[in-house]
Amino acid sequence: MKPAPFGYLRPESVAEACEALARHGEEARILAGGQSLGAMLNMRLVRPALLVDINRLDTLSKIEVTNEAVITGAMVRQADALADARIRNNVPLLSMALPHVGHYQTRNRGTLGGSVAHADPSAEIPLVLATLGGEVELKSARRTRRVRAGDFFRSALVTARAPEEVITELHWPAAAQRTRYAFEEFSVRGGDYAIVAVACALDEERRSVRFGFGGCGEAPQVVELGYDSEAIAQIAADAAGKIECRADLQASTAYRRNLAVVLARRVLTAASMRQAVSA
Ligand code: FAD
Repeated sequence: MKPAPFGYLRPESVAEACEALARHGEEARILAGGQSLGAMLNMRLVRPALLVDINRLDTLSKIEVTNEAVITGAMVRQADALADARIRNNVPLLSMALPHVGHYQTRNRGTLGGSVAHADPSAEIPLVLATLGGEVELKSARRTRRVRAGDFFRSALVTARAPEEVITELHWPAAAQRTRYAFEEFSVRGGDYAIVAVACALDEERRSVRFGFGGCGEAPQVVELGYDSEAIAQIAADAAGKIECRADLQASTAYRRNLAVVLARRVLTAASMRQAVSA
């Protein structure tokens, strides 16, 4: 199929993109990497009157490292993030997850901001942002605001973003000293969306572990528990026991729950055996 007719605007600035969204509201859609929106347009799942193409807005492609966080512009391509040493060194969990996002072809066009805006419940990038307690920066013609990832993802493909808002930045908390990370997922084929994905941040000093579960519920689910190196299997089972697990064509609730337990145990074991992030 082909998209329903739409208008096209290629703004010269974020401000111009915001003005277009303010004028057209729900009738306008941002076009980023097009790796999700393209299919939705072709299947006529969305029929925007106007596409606002932000691919030429270079200010949205920056990567900045501060003492507290790595700040990525919404248009940072997934492939560029995967290849970037600043992200590998400061947000290792994102680097671990990115190879699971689609295929290298889709990662060359797909963006970090687009994945967060699209908010597929199985998507890895939103899962990492939520697990790390990151934030989403949104701009409109009226204001700029930041929303914690835990409050941003509401349900499948539904977020806290208002129709007139552009996602401009993602704030990834920098890797804390002596924290160890691991990521695993299970999908039918490499490059498919995960049936279940689990991210783990093990904080040795605080003897606590944060699990992020993707693909289980309507949005990323984060569970934080105490850590005891002698009780890894029990901690994994307790964490997976606290989350919602939906049933769909791909998996029953019981199957997803079991996958969540197994993957949580694997990532906690892997994180416990990994070198802590050096200062
Ligand atoms: P687009 O497709 O351009 O936009 C997606 C949605 O977000 C649209 O509604 C758009 O209006 C909105 N949007 C985009 N950017 C902004 C912004 N800055 N502000 C406000 N709204 C915005 N993803 C995974 O996570 N895991 C996978 O395993 C996976 N496998 C894939 C396999 C294939 C074959 C394909 C084609 C895609 C796959 N994807 C997967 C999706 C891919 O990662 C997309 O790149 C991502 O979901 C959307 O990013 P995008 O830049 O392409 O956004």
